[in-house]
Amino acid sequence: MKYIILDLEWNGSNTDKGYFNEIIEFGAVALDDDLAIVGEFQSFVNPKVTKKLRGRIKELTHISNDDLKNAGSFVSVFRRFAAWIGEEDNCMLSWGNADIVVLYENLERYEMLDEIFVIRNFCDAQLMCQQAMDIPLTKQVGLSAFAELTQVEIGDDPLHRAINDSRLTARCVAKVFKPECYASFVRKADREFYERMNFKSYCIQDINDELIKPSAFMTKCPECGRYMKRISSYSCRNKKHYASYRCRFCRKTYQVGHMFKMTYDGLEHKVNYRQIVPTIEPSGDEAAVGSEVTKGA
Ligand SMILES: [Zn+2]
Repeated sequence: MKYIILDLEWNGSNTDKGYFNEIIEFGAVALDDDLAIVGEFQSFVNPKVTKKLRGRIKELTHISNDDLKNAGSFVSVFRRFAAWIGEEDNCMLSWGNADIVVLYENLERYEMLDEIFVIRNFCDAQLMCQQAMDIPLTKQVGLSAFAELTQVEIGDDPLHRAINDSRLTARCVAKVFKPECYASFVRKADREFYERMNFKSYCIQDINDELIKPSAFMTKCPECGRYMKRISSYSCRNKKHYASYRCRFCRKTYQVGHMFKMTYDGLEHKVNYRQIVPTIEPSGDEAAVGSEVTKGA
């Protein structure tokens, strides 16, 4: 298996088809099974969608409009890149998944998505490296911060240039590589992989949506586990459907929030409870007290 470390630079702008991150540089290094660098690929891309680079991108990447003027088109650069990757089985690694998402979007724009399958497997190097160092995956550690943390030499080459970032990623990967961490993050880069990557999770706002089974609203008392009786109608706030429920055994009333989130793997249903205790105010209003408890249902 050959490893390919990919890093891309892109220039984002609003277009008639929405926001688009147009790739302006490819940088990649190839590693052999011992994680030694055995090849490199670098190319600028002549932008078609937005001819002028945004100021922030010029500052960040030190790429100038002149650098891109004589470069090949995205289509020709990607095909050269694919030829460089070759037919051998491979795994692409990059720091985070933004590069593979942007690569997908650019291929989609040029109607050449089928060519993405030159990449056989994908592994998020950031997750793999953080796991190898026991850094919680909920933290987002940038590439240079990770290099500093693990005493990987950053060198004098400017960062945020695709080829330099891919070399640095390669050094970080080689420094902390653990086969078991690689195994837990490598994915076969098939159609399902990209469908999952592009799936936008959303919360169901319409309580009558046919995806929600009526039985989903049958709610058990958080204390005794028996079904409670709903004593109010539903109202929707912050993507949650709220109603008051009463347990006649515990004689307690709860404000219950149901949230239905559609993910690639199906409907997720979360329930949270907040006990309502009657106040002694003469108005007779009931006030919510206590901490919120959230449970999966
Ligand atoms: Zn109860």
